[in-house]
Amino acid sequence: MKELGHFINGQQVAGQSGRFADVMNPALGEVQAKVALASKAELDAAVAAAAQAQPAWGATNPQRRARVMMEFVRLLHRDMDKLAEALSSEHGKTLPDAKGDVQRGLEVIEFCIGAPHLLKGEFTDSAGPGIDMYSMRQPLGVVAGITPFNFPAMIPLWKMGPALACGNAFILKPSERDPSVPLMLAELMTEAGLPDGVLQVVNGDKESVDAILDNPTIQAIGFVGSTPIAEYIYGRGCSNGKRVQCFGGAKNHMIVMPDADMDQAADALVGAGYGAAGERCMAISVAVPVGDETADRLIEKLVPRIEKLKVGPYTAGADVDYGPLVTAQAKERVLGLIDTGVEQGADLVVDGRNFALQGYESGYFIGPSLFDKVTPDMEIYKQEIFGPVLSTVRAQTYEEAIGYAMDHEYGNGTAIFTRDGDTARDFAARINVGMVGINVPIPVPLAYHTFGGWKKSGFGDLNQHGPDAFRFYTRTKTVTSRWPSGLKEGGEFHFKQMD
Ligand code: NAD
Repeated sequence: MKELGHFINGQQVAGQSGRFADVMNPALGEVQAKVALASKAELDAAVAAAAQAQPAWGATNPQRRARVMMEFVRLLHRDMDKLAEALSSEHGKTLPDAKGDVQRGLEVIEFCIGAPHLLKGEFTDSAGPGIDMYSMRQPLGVVAGITPFNFPAMIPLWKMGPALACGNAFILKPSERDPSVPLMLAELMTEAGLPDGVLQVVNGDKESVDAILDNPTIQAIGFVGSTPIAEYIYGRGCSNGKRVQCFGGAKNHMIVMPDADMDQAADALVGAGYGAAGERCMAISVAVPVGDETADRLIEKLVPRIEKLKVGPYTAGADVDYGPLVTAQAKERVLGLIDTGVEQGADLVVDGRNFALQGYESGYFIGPSLFDKVTPDMEIYKQEIFGPVLSTVRAQTYEEAIGYAMDHEYGNGTAIFTRDGDTARDFAARINVGMVGINVPIPVPLAYHTFGGWKKSGFGDLNQHGPDAFRFYTRTKTVTSRWPSGLKEGGEFHFKQMD
């Protein structure tokens, strides 16, 4: 059985704890590897080595650091197929989707090539007589990222790129469900010229996460995953005096106005609702048509599209729309939630529960499901399902529709489909959600903007990637400097005015 360890000081090393987790092939329902789960001692040793390596990296000029990023981008392109294959086999998503996962991470690395510009400080010449004032952005030291299973390339890249470009050393604790790609990324960073020890990948579970939270050398933590864990990490990390940003779960609503192009809206909903088997934090999981007539037209357009979806393993060809869920537990949970939806009185218009694929009977596949007449008191509305299940909540007015999205505890993404500029503008201005699409179902901001949800979808002050990442991974120091050219004023006991 293949054994995956950690990446420490520039090479892969075996785990020492004796504890392992199974890495599944979700399409086959078979164990394909074992991944080591680090002990606190292993995590602490990785951090200590990173702390040794960081000062030289932090002192390397930003242009040289950017050149490592430049070469890394070239290597990501070179190994795109290999990375996508490894990613699909552990996660289950289709190959084109796996390439998208790498690509959206790679674009953040491209942004990080601009580090010399992004790290420029501020300077005030002659702030007072003989006085100059300047601010610089300095790395924090050793920082850590804890990432989820659903984007095993993109999210580690969102974290490691800016952290390293800013001159930090970075400890990555990826998801134990799909650990191969993060290890491959670390190998490629080393090949690109990153000094040993500056990027450490420590595989593990709660023990290594707790060790990160309590390690006094680690200055900042970026987390992405489910909301209960985000809240836990934010609380414990902050109380240990660290800078922490945590991005959590989602329940993304898409409002469909009566004037929307209904074919466009239905196409968008099918892609955004069922792509990657719904295992995306920016998936649309709730459609909110305004008016019963709109709802009826939308359902009529959705059903044939959903029934045509091709569900299968990533090896079955380019026309597969989505693959299996990540684990047997995830499949059971989603099936349980669909049952609950039926019990609580929602209309199950398309039922994906009895989906079976010849030759893949043990895989974690679920067919697409569509609910109509879902109400806010139902579990399928309250919870993040994270599966191929789209719920329709019928609203009678625009105000009622926007109210559903506003009142939900999550606030990651949302969208509105309309041809009316006034409505779209009002929606963008008023909605209390971090990322908004206007006739765009999955409004994931590009690398040079920032990504982050509101309410229970995001904890902390700054977003991921874009300029915010360069703020998160640096500390500002402001220097006031005076060269008195012969001025001798004696001691001063009040704040001096700069005049
Ligand atoms: P998860 O919360 O189970 O795991 C995330 C990370 O936390 C993993 O590295 C895992 O090992 C660790 N972890 C799990 N349980 C822990 C515990 N009890 N104590 C300490 N650490 C623990 O999330 P997941 O299932 O891997 O990912 C799916 C979730 O991530 C969904 O809720 C999804 O919406 C969310 N997500 C959010 C964003 C975003 O930007 N908001 C992006 C992607 C995914």
